[in-house]
Amino acid sequence: MNGLTKKVLITGGAGFIGSQLARRILNEGSEVTVIDNLFTGSKSNIYDLLDNPRFTFLMHDITQPFWGQFDEIYNLACPASPIHYQRNPVETIKVSFLGMMNTLELALKTKARVFHTSTSEVYGDPHVHPQPETYWGNVNTLGPRSCYDEGKRAAESLCADYIREYGVDVRMIRIFNTYGPFMHPRDGRVISNFIVQTLQGENLTLYGDGSQSRSFQYVDDLLDAMQKYMELPLKKVQQFFQDRNMPVPVLNVGNPGEFSIKELAEMTLSLIPESKSELTFKPLPEDDPKRRRPDITWAKELLGWEPRIALKEGLPKTIEYFRSFIKQK
Ligand code: UDP
Repeated sequence: MNGLTKKVLITGGAGFIGSQLARRILNEGSEVTVIDNLFTGSKSNIYDLLDNPRFTFLMHDITQPFWGQFDEIYNLACPASPIHYQRNPVETIKVSFLGMMNTLELALKTKARVFHTSTSEVYGDPHVHPQPETYWGNVNTLGPRSCYDEGKRAAESLCADYIREYGVDVRMIRIFNTYGPFMHPRDGRVISNFIVQTLQGENLTLYGDGSQSRSFQYVDDLLDAMQKYMELPLKKVQQFFQDRNMPVPVLNVGNPGEFSIKELAEMTLSLIPESKSELTFKPLPEDDPKRRRPDITWAKELLGWEPRIALKEGLPKTIEYFRSFIKQK
C-alpha cells in the first residue's frame, strides 16, 4: 500500500498522538477519518485539519459500533494518563474492550488492516527488567490502575483471538511513556507536569522519593515506528513472529534511555534556569510501577528502527512548545 492513496481511520485521532498521526498521513496524500468522543482529545488538536477535503471528523464513542470502508484502522482511542483514565474507570475499561471489539468487527467485515496501540502498562509493576514482549507482566487486577491495565490486556487478548479465529490482519505495539509537543498542559503526566510547573514557578511535584524510573520516548520516534510497522507486508510480519514462537505480532516501541523521576526533575530545572521552582515530595500513587524500560530488540530487527531523539534533545523541544503555548494563553 506504500505510496498509494489510502483510506485511513484513526480512533482517538483528536488526542496527542492520534492528531499528529492524522497530520502525517494527510500530508502523504491519503484520506483520513478521525473518530473521537473528545473525552481527553480536543478539537484544538485538529483545527488545522478540518478544512482539508481529505479529512473527516466524526464525534462518536467507539463503545458503540461504527461503520465505514477503510484500508487501515489505527486504534488509539483510550485515555492514557493515570489521572484521566481513573476519572471514569468504567468508561476506560469499556473503551479498551468494547472499542477494540467494534474496531475488530469492522475490520473483519471490511478486510481492513488494524493497528492497535497497547501499552507498557500491560507489564504492570514488572519483575523482569528491561521488559521483552514475551514477559507476561505483574498486574494488580483490582487496583486503581486496573481499569486501564486490564482493559488493555483484554484488548490484546481480543486481537489475538481475532487473528487466530478469523485471520484479521492486526499489528500491535506496546507504547512506553511518550512525550513531546502537543501534549496537553494538564495531561497530568510527569513530563508535562514538570515543565508546566517549572515555567510557572511552581514547585515540582515528585511522587514518592522520585527513585522510580521511566524510559521516555519522543513522539516523532513513535510515529516513525508506527508507520513503518503498518506498511510491512503481512507475510513478512507473520514470518517474523512465527520464527520467534510468538502467536501474535506485538512489538515494544519506546526509548530504552531510563531515568529516575528525580533525574527528570533535575534535568527540567536545569533547562529552565530562570525558574525559582524547587522539588516537593507527594505520596506515591497506589501500584505505581517502580521501573520501566523497553527491550526493543524485536522492533529494531523487524522495522530497522530505533529511537533517534534522546531525552536531552526532546525535552528542550517540548519546553519550547509549552513556553509558546503558555505565552499565547
Ligand atoms: N509522577 C510524579 N509527579 C507528577 C506526575 C507523575 O512524580 O507530577 C511520577 C508517577 O508517580 C510515575 C512517573 O512519574 O512514577 C510517571 O508517571 P506518568 O503519570 O507520567 O506515567 P505512568 O505512571 O503511566 O508511567
